[in-house]
Amino acid sequence: MRDQSKGRIVSFSPKVFIPLTRLCRDFCSYCVFRQSPQQAESLYMNPEEVLEVARAGQQAGCREALFVLGERPEQRYPEARKWLEDHGFTSTIHYLKAMCELVLEETRLFPHSNPGTMTERELQTLRPVNVSMGLMLESTSEHLYQPGGPHEHAPSKHPRARLRTLELAGELKIPFTTGLLVGIGETAQDRIDALEAIQDLQQRFGHIQEVIIQNFCAKPDTPMEQSSEATREEMLETVALARILLGPEMNVQVPPNLTAPYWIYLEAGINDWGGISPVTRDYVNPEASWPQIVKMQQQMKDRGYQLRARYPVYPEYFMERSDFIAPELVKRLRQEADSEGYFDGHNWSGSPLSGATTSDSHREMRL
Ligand code: SF4
Repeated sequence: MRDQSKGRIVSFSPKVFIPLTRLCRDFCSYCVFRQSPQQAESLYMNPEEVLEVARAGQQAGCREALFVLGERPEQRYPEARKWLEDHGFTSTIHYLKAMCELVLEETRLFPHSNPGTMTERELQTLRPVNVSMGLMLESTSEHLYQPGGPHEHAPSKHPRARLRTLELAGELKIPFTTGLLVGIGETAQDRIDALEAIQDLQQRFGHIQEVIIQNFCAKPDTPMEQSSEATREEMLETVALARILLGPEMNVQVPPNLTAPYWIYLEAGINDWGGISPVTRDYVNPEASWPQIVKMQQQMKDRGYQLRARYPVYPEYFMERSDFIAPELVKRLRQEADSEGYFDGHNWSGSPLSGATTSDSHREMRL
């Protein structure tokens, strides 16, 4: 099914990860990204820090500025509210918008934001400065939200809240990334239900640009430290089900830094490896380093596939149509992209930062 639509092309998005704030109003039992104001070195990254990372990414050949941040920290922490007020912003979303604008003005990178659940107005605020946005559905299981579940203290993880954001994004025609977090206590039927919910959204709005099937990895010093993880068979089965339920056209992705060897998912039907950074680490799974891009190119070739660099929005949303992205951004994408909507010019082996997990990088240390 994958080959019918995608052939033997497997894409990835060269990116930098910009953790604008690690403060969050929620507490998910598996999360190591979130920090309290006391733990955080700084409450928000300042504009100079954002630009420094974005420029390092540009130099290393990236085109995606992935903004990942905690959910509405100003609702829980007076420190966050004060920081925003002191800097002239009414909310984290407004500060995020300003940082997206800055990256667009100063670099060749395209923002893709993941700020959690959003209202219609918040989505409208970010749409003009993002080529796509994302929100992991994770699961539609209500059980995970009950006492003792991983989402008990995370109101934004309620399936209804997440489905509503995904629905609003569809109404506003925003290319959207979503997906499942596999192995957090859901059943096999729950995974099918979640895939069917995504299928329903896609049939109604056509805005689901990709579906990530991500395996939960238990982290030390979290309440789920001792929880069992999804088996390889469960992951392969879920990837294959995603391909079958969502069809040949859907972009199905597995992060390549969370399974070894990562290429087992090719035969289950994926066609994308998601964002890979030659500059910044994976802040959500800090223990997992990215594969070296130049090695991936060879590994794909050895297996009969071609690895291609894409933008944080897939070609089908800007090459043939212009109703899904702000006109200025469509223009910029078309000017930059090759005739198929990719960009393959960068020599990844020539990049001084190629393959770095950057735990050793100067920029990373400063972050
Ligand atoms: S909402 Fe996101 S950042 Fe916040 S605790 Fe949950 S996983 Fe972590």
